[in-house]
Amino acid sequence: MSAGELPYSRQVIDDDDVAAVIAVLRSDRLTTGPAVDQLEAALAAKVGARHAVTFANGTAALHGALAAAGIGPGDRVVTSPLSFAASATCALYVGAQVGFADIDPDTLNIDLDAVPPCDALVAVHYAGLPCDLASLPRRPRVVVEDACHALGAATPDGPVGSCAHSDMTVFSFHPVKSITTGEGGAVTTNSAELAASLRRFRSHGMVARPEDGGWCYEIDEVAYNYRLTDMQAALGSSQLGKLGSFVAMRNALADRYRNLLADARGVVLPPAAPRAGWRHAYHLFAVQVADRRSVYDSMHAAGITAQVHYVPIYRHPLYARMGFTPDQFPNTERAYAGLLSLPLFPTLTRSDQDRVVDVLAHALVRAEAA
Ligand SMILES: *Cc1c(COP(=O)(O)O)cnc(C)c1O
Repeated sequence: MSAGELPYSRQVIDDDDVAAVIAVLRSDRLTTGPAVDQLEAALAAKVGARHAVTFANGTAALHGALAAAGIGPGDRVVTSPLSFAASATCALYVGAQVGFADIDPDTLNIDLDAVPPCDALVAVHYAGLPCDLASLPRRPRVVVEDACHALGAATPDGPVGSCAHSDMTVFSFHPVKSITTGEGGAVTTNSAELAASLRRFRSHGMVARPEDGGWCYEIDEVAYNYRLTDMQAALGSSQLGKLGSFVAMRNALADRYRNLLADARGVVLPPAAPRAGWRHAYHLFAVQVADRRSVYDSMHAAGITAQVHYVPIYRHPLYARMGFTPDQFPNTERAYAGLLSLPLFPTLTRSDQDRVVDVLAHALVRAEAA
């Protein structure tokens, strides 16, 4: 990126990535084939899970995870209100009820002590900082990690995705996330049954019946076409090889933001990895500022496309209609009032970062004067 608009995040694509996609385009298989198998094997190995099942996107992967776990009508799914809406909407897809617990202001993750009784927890690793699922006081029947921010993160129990304290972990490969396939997602699990169920769910529920003829298959459940293509998977495998360096660059830039902003008045820095053995994936570097609206507008006017993650899910009319109100979630409301994600991606240059800090400082002064 030269001068001009600086986005809050963007993909990093190199010649190897391009070559990997072109190789598939010249091959016989475009859709789900050997490149998907390869990505699934590489992802499972990378995060230390027995199985990885790719999906068309992270939202489809969340849908698949709840369906595979048998969550449906009559069940209650609890998630963090400070997330992308898909963390909650996946419950509605399977006919379940949605619930929220307020966030812990120190981590911006769901307060695990406040999770009400439920059938499934969708634990979001906000900004790429893992929830401490080892300390979940009451484990519901199903625990799904929404790790769409957290590919490349780790806790002392292993990489996020190893499912040390969960049934399944969901990833997204949208261009703003740790690695990209354009659109794409995956679920990792250590359960062979869940993996088989996820595979059926992403491909029409089809089960081959070779004993009845080579052509024969059966469909015994309502399922979808949520498959990733081989073109996308080839890109994903190429990107996955660079995950370690991408996350290291994000961490170095986040550390540099911390230094540059250490003395900035009126800026609350985001929570860092709490102690040794924890690795933050830094999908986001979300500061909190007073008068966020004015700061946001000033930064955009200067070409810095800072973003807000997120409008709390209960504030969307779809959820407000279910009876959720902001006063039920005071910690989320306080955080939301100030949150602003500064540009952060592996190829963000030091001079771009200096410009962000400079523009932010001016925006804060202007907001204070107003
Ligand atoms: C990006 C994201 C999703 C959805 O992933 P898509 O691949 O865009 O469908 C779900 N949950 C969270 C927390 C996300 O950030």
